[in-house]
Parts: sequence; C-alpha cells; structure tokens
Amino acid sequence: MTNSGEFPSLIRGAHLPDGSAVDVTISGGTVTSVLPSGTARVPSDASAILDLDGHLLLSATAEPHAHLDKAGSWDAIRPPMGDLRAAIVSWRDYADAMTEQDIVTRARAQVLRNVRNGTTAIRSHVDLLRGDDPLRGIRAINTVRDELHDLVDIEIISLVPADIPTSVVEASLDAGADGIGAAAHLAPEPFVELDRILAIAERNDCVLDMHTDESLDEVVTLGRLAERTRAWSRNVTAGHCVRLGTVSVEERDGLIEAVVASGIGVIANPITNLYLQGWEHEVATPRGLTAVRALVDAGARFAAGADNVRDPFNPMGRSDGLETAMLLVVAGHLTAEEAFHAVSGGAREVMGLASSGPTAGAAADLLAVRASHLTHAIAEASADRVVLHGGRVVARTQSHSEFPTLDTASVRTR
Ligand SMILES: [Zn+2]
Repeated sequence: MTNSGEFPSLIRGAHLPDGSAVDVTISGGTVTSVLPSGTARVPSDASAILDLDGHLLLSATAEPHAHLDKAGSWDAIRPPMGDLRAAIVSWRDYADAMTEQDIVTRARAQVLRNVRNGTTAIRSHVDLLRGDDPLRGIRAINTVRDELHDLVDIEIISLVPADIPTSVVEASLDAGADGIGAAAHLAPEPFVELDRILAIAERNDCVLDMHTDESLDEVVTLGRLAERTRAWSRNVTAGHCVRLGTVSVEERDGLIEAVVASGIGVIANPITNLYLQGWEHEVATPRGLTAVRALVDAGARFAAGADNVRDPFNPMGRSDGLETAMLLVVAGHLTAEEAFHAVSGGAREVMGLASSGPTAGAAADLLAVRASHLTHAIAEASADRVVLHGGRVVARTQSHSEFPTLDTASVRTR
C-alpha cells in the first residue's frame, strides 16, 4: 500500500472475489467504474491514487445488530458466565449506576473497532434505562454518532424493557432514536407487549426492530410479528429468531412463508446466541441459531450481526464482520459467498441502506483486506485492511510479523 490521500479517485492493484485484477474509479462517494487493471485513466495528482496490491476488494461490512451502550463492559462488570436471563440481571444492576460519559467512552472505542475492521454502517439497539434518567444511553450514542459521522453511519433503535412506559419510548424518538424495538418474548405477556410496541411504531411511523424469540424452547412471536406488519411499508426486522431454528420443519416453513410475505428482515446473531443458548444441555448441545439455511433458501431478507461484544451477554468478539461470516459458515453451513453477503449487502438491505461495493453505481463503502480470495479473507481475517466510507479512507491497518529463529532475520507474512 502506498501513501495516498483521503479521497482517492482511482483504486488500483486490488482484485475481486472472482480473481480479476481491477481499477476502480470513485467520484462523489460513488463507485463510477470497475475496469480491467491498467485501463483506467490515471489522475495526475498522485495523492488521488490508492494502490492496494495484494488486497481483495469487497463491500464494506455493515453491523445490523449492535449494542453500543453495552459493548466493552465485561471487564468492569465481571459477571458470572451464563444464559440470557443471567446476563440481563448482571447488566441491569450495572446499568442502574452507569453514567452517560461511561457509555460514550465504551461506545466510541467499540465503533472504532468496528470501523477499523471494515464496518461503515451500524444499527445499535440502546436500552431505555430504569430510574430518573432513562434516556442517557440514547444521548450517549447520539453523541458518539455525531462525533464519528465522517467514519460511519449509526442508526439508533430504542430497546424498550416491558417496565418502561410508552411516554418514555416516545420521548426517546424525540431524543434521537430512529426506531424502536423490544424483547417481547421476555415480557410477562409477550403478545400484549408485542402489540404495545407495534402500536407505538405505527403511531410514530418509525423503524421497528424486535429482539424475537431468543430461546430454544419458549414462546414463538415471529408469526404474529410477520402477520401484523405484512401491510406496513416501514422498515421491520426481527433479530435472533433462535426459536425458529428449533421448531418442527412444518412450523418453521410456515413461519418463513409468513416472514417472506411480510418482507421483514431476519438478523441472525451467531456469536452471541452460540454463547447464550444451550447452557442446560449437557450433551448434544444445540446451536443457538436461527434457521439460517431455510431462510436463505426461501429468499427471506437475511442478515447477520455480532450483537453483543464483550459484555454480560457475550464475553468474546472481535467486532469484525468477517468473524460473523466465519460463524455463519461453520455453525450455519452457509457458503462463504452467502455468509459475506449476510454481513454486507444483506445487512445494508435490511437496514434500508443503498448497496455498496466495487460495482459501478454503488456507494464507495469498501473494505480491502489482504487475501487471495473470499474464503481466505473470512478464514484468516487478516488485520491488514483499508476501509473507505463514502469514497473516503477512514481506516488503515498494517501488521508485521517476525520470526527471529529462522535463517532469514525477518519474514514478512504478507
Ligand atoms: Zn440484541
């Protein structure tokens, strides 16, 4: 990688997943052409050229299901490991005393980890909190969104616990939230809570993103969500849908038919649900994962996210779309191409964003990663990356390894 300016008009040296070496031209934040290598007009200003020899050029990834207000709190909380309900108890105890500044600090660091790895759009759920100041999480993520708006598009979804009144939910929309959601399956009366949230979304004409059926064996609310939103034109998504992966084939196919008919997007969150579900199964531990293959085969709008990162709901996570894609391959049995689509084009689609990537006419949100082809990129997830958002270079990472015991004093692995 040579030096280059912030706004390249020509990317050269990179190759695409099909193996072709290309020149990519960019103007005004949009990819204007993708041409055989060496055939694009070379700008006279050298700083307008971005050389990416050895890099695979992909769409930037998008994170359709994050919790920026929770991310990175594991070390402060030191919760016991456990399932979803245990995580909720640990989190809410901590959250009661959490300050707005604490949330800003952790969320900012988390967003930068995402951007560094190639994510240029994030949808974050943000808890409405108990106590006197329920909107401090929303304000904090709003602050981070404003601060980092040149690097990444952040969308905020108010995550509404069942004990938070409707007036606070509507105030959160005035405070900067773009939409609302809840985990109705956890409410004392799941269908009553689902109907309350649906009514608020309808009245305020906002995005609806529900945490849906995040269990292996409890209530199924997905069918009602699909049915009730079928006539809606607003953006509706259902995250998790773990239960959909454990019902009978007949019930699953009926639910997926309803999902496809309603047009709602389903967002799988493999890393978090592999951690949160299955604790009670000592043997043949099931995968906490939605019906990934059946959804893709049925043509459902499908995406995948990381969900929680290093908080009581998941102590692990690299904040990398390639990590989520890897899990879709090994735990969800998708192909590398299907898996990468779920964390890039599919994710942008369920978030209501225009397509991006090395295609003429697409947004110049791009991820260049040092790899020979897509499976290699997902498997190795090299740290060596260049990330563009709206045609602007927003992150670069270069790694260097040495093997002092080898005859050659220094071996660069890339
Ligand atoms: Zn979530």
